[in-house]
Amino acid sequence: MIESLLNNNMAWASARVRADSQFFRRLSEQQSPEYLWIGCSDSRVPANEIVGLDPGELFVHRNIANLAPPRDINFLSVLQYSVEVLKVRHIIVCGHYGCGGVRAALDTERRGLIDHWLQPVTELARAHADHLDTITDFEGRVNLTCELNVRAQVEYVGRNPFVADAWRRGQKLAVHGWIYSIRDGLLHDLELTIENARDVDALVRRRWSSNA
Ligand SMILES: [Zn+2]
Repeated sequence: MIESLLNNNMAWASARVRADSQFFRRLSEQQSPEYLWIGCSDSRVPANEIVGLDPGELFVHRNIANLAPPRDINFLSVLQYSVEVLKVRHIIVCGHYGCGGVRAALDTERRGLIDHWLQPVTELARAHADHLDTITDFEGRVNLTCELNVRAQVEYVGRNPFVADAWRRGQKLAVHGWIYSIRDGLLHDLELTIENARDVDALVRRRWSSNA
């Protein structure tokens, strides 16, 4: 029932106040999150919860298949605001295995607008077809594409002018690529962390040398 959500909210707010009477007063004055989360809209990947962070600690952008599209005004607004105003120290691109968006990008079924949104993932899979075609089961191909997609988004974020300018100004900012497993609730660091423009070049070079 929809009313239960409002009741849950009352119980949650009063529990927070019981634990810390100034909690909401502090939050209402300002937010100073150190992290920007770019994750999938999937209901099974609740950003704050899986990293154990409270309200106020994580600035969140979620969309289908955790994309960081270089021409999406929503994403770009979030990125600029979090880098230039909030001055987050870390940007986490977090994908997840079994992503329905990635799966949809790999089949030929027509779903409507989402096919357009997922076009970059379809292109990515095409670019890696030689490697993906060696994997016989579809789920395996989906999961590898989920990892490749995180990598591509980390590169997009690293190449973004807002991020490049922040590094040029000497602002401390790291971009990380993680992937979450819905099966066991665990996050895995894909070791794609970049902290400056040189790291982005090295990451791209590594991609070409490993062809993965
Ligand atoms: Zn997903």
